[in-house]
Amino acid sequence: MKVLVLGSGQLARMMSLAGAPLNIEVFAYDVATGKVVHPLTQQVMLKGLDTALTYTDVITAEFEHIPHEILDICERSGKFQPTTTAIKAGGDRRLEKNLLDNAGVANAPYHIVTSRAELDAAIAKIGLPMVLKSALGGYDGKGQWRLKEAGQVEAVWQDMADFMAQTENQAIVAEAFIPFDREVSLIGARGRDGQIAVYPLTENTHTNGVLSLSVAQEGDHALQAQAEKMFTALANSLNYVGVLAIEFFDVNGQLLVNEIAPRVHNSGHWTQQGAETCQFENHLRAVTGLPLGSTALIRPTAMVNILGEDRLPTAILAEPTCHIHWYGKEKRAGRKMGHINLCADTPAALQEALKQLASHLDPDAFPALHG
Ligand code: ATP
Ligand code: MG
Ligand code: MG
Repeated sequence: MKVLVLGSGQLARMMSLAGAPLNIEVFAYDVATGKVVHPLTQQVMLKGLDTALTYTDVITAEFEHIPHEILDICERSGKFQPTTTAIKAGGDRRLEKNLLDNAGVANAPYHIVTSRAELDAAIAKIGLPMVLKSALGGYDGKGQWRLKEAGQVEAVWQDMADFMAQTENQAIVAEAFIPFDREVSLIGARGRDGQIAVYPLTENTHTNGVLSLSVAQEGDHALQAQAEKMFTALANSLNYVGVLAIEFFDVNGQLLVNEIAPRVHNSGHWTQQGAETCQFENHLRAVTGLPLGSTALIRPTAMVNILGEDRLPTAILAEPTCHIHWYGKEKRAGRKMGHINLCADTPAALQEALKQLASHLDPDAFPALHG
């Protein structure tokens, strides 16, 4: 089977690695250059999108910020999974909010802001503090503002108005600030036959808006059931095929959806070492119509993001359960360059292993490990 992935970053790369044992060959479409490349070497493989559409059996995506013209072309080929509706909703917070509301899934109260008057209406409706998020193009906490008190309204509005003018982004989603206890995410897959398999909830730590640490272990059954119910409602409402990620706020045992990602997700990278079948393989299985693999947890596992670093002390590889996954990308400040997966037999042993790992690493580069 040949699978074309829209996007040529680390997610396409890891799909390619996971697909090889199943004889699934992955091609990556670099949306910025219009080239179809090998996901590992970035060498040009096929002439262009048109050739790739006929040459491959299935088309999928590794990110959601894809021009709608390209999505529509892929849709017309009849080969696109998980559905372009899901990708579009993942890339536009207005569509995403509609989707969540229509599926009856709890999410933060919100109001769409396109003018100063609408900002006042949002404040009247949802109160302060609030989080304002650009409707289009946001990731890693970019394109967001925090509005804490009435005195800041004018300054924040000016900032947002400038942003909207510069980016031709005409809308902002104003959201109530949720005083969450923790952030968790659920990664799961839905097959072509509608079968659903989800991984255990992952607890996530963000540093400056970017995911820094994910920990997966057997958790609270009631919370897992709540998350699974919401996942099923959303995935079924979209007739979704593939891996879907949902980010939640846990507020006193009640889950609210923060956002969805219609693809494999950074908070699911731990599955490479910690689950029977990793999320990349399960995405490929789903979109190619194969049976889903088991999502069972093998052992407690943590994933640590490597941000803005292209070298680490090789000594960490001497730790018995430490696995490094580099993405082969050029170094840039704050950029996701790779990740480390670390496993242990018990949650307590995992915390010990994380401390041991931290002792080798620069505290400035890995603040989540030294917190
Ligand atoms: P990602 O890289 O996960 O796609 P993003 O840019 O789409 O990030 P969000 O996930 O919406 O951004 O927000 C980033 C982080 O900001 C969240 O993980 C959470 O810590 C915080 N945050 C977002 N919305 C809220 C909210 N309504 N209340 C409190 N904190 C929030
Ligand atoms: Mg996001
Ligand atoms: Mg997020």
